Amino acid sequence: AIERSARAKRMESLGQLAGGVAHDFNNLLAIILNYADFLIDEVTPEGRKDLARIRDAADRARDLTGQLLLFAKRQPTQVETVDLKEVVDCSGELLRRSIGANIQLICRGQPEPLPVRANRGHLDQILLNLIVNARDAMPDGGVIVMETDRPPGDNARLTVSDTGCGMTAEVRDRLFEPFFTTKPADQGTGLGLATVYGIVADAGGQISVDSSPGVGTTFRILLPLAAESADRAPDTDDGPAHGHG
Ligand code: ADP
Repeated sequence: AIERSARAKRMESLGQLAGGVAHDFNNLLAIILNYADFLIDEVTPEGRKDLARIRDAADRARDLTGQLLLFAKRQPTQVETVDLKEVVDCSGELLRRSIGANIQLICRGQPEPLPVRANRGHLDQILLNLIVNARDAMPDGGVIVMETDRPPGDNARLTVSDTGCGMTAEVRDRLFEPFFTTKPADQGTGLGLATVYGIVADAGGQISVDSSPGVGTTFRILLPLAAESADRAPDTDDGPAHGHG
């Protein structure tokens, strides 16, 4: 137990350090992106191509700092009752832009709403991280299925499956560890699934994974359904002081 708490503390200070750097870095990136936007109308077509590259790289860097900030929980978050089904439906279009034309993204779910207590932005982040990982696992294309449903019990379930490369047992054992990645340094941060795990745990949910090398991977997330009579007013991350009953 002592070893675990030392480890937890180390992770926490690492998170704080990363959060501090990410915050300052994010401000610098905003400046870079702004000036790239100003210039894009003023330069020759050749220059425009180079500027687009600068923009893309800065965009990627901003995604990274965003992940770091989320992981380090530097931003205050608001928890509200959101319909998981609607989040998935609405994100579909945006997510389609994050994947190549060789990948088919299928969204399905039952018509009933699935109200959960969560931060909307965090749910978007979960979907994005899972979809980007699925995309990276399918360089030659494939299918991603995003599904929401209500299994027996008081949970909403989100399932994201891909027909990608799958994982070995070694990778599967470590994939929720912060900074664990099998991707090249300029592509992977190892923060995606650690962040997903943290968000799901904070929301009182569970995440599990099934994966076979060469066949594909399925992530399943359970989030407690919001009680029908629950107070719908937004509250802060540490939840309401009083239960509902
Ligand atoms: P990153 O994507 O930056 O590497 P993650 O924490 O999101 O960090 O993922 C950690 C590792 O888990 C990835 O490097 C990859 O090896 C593995 N992984 C995650 N999702 C999938 C997937 N859908 N298919 C195959 N491997 C995956």
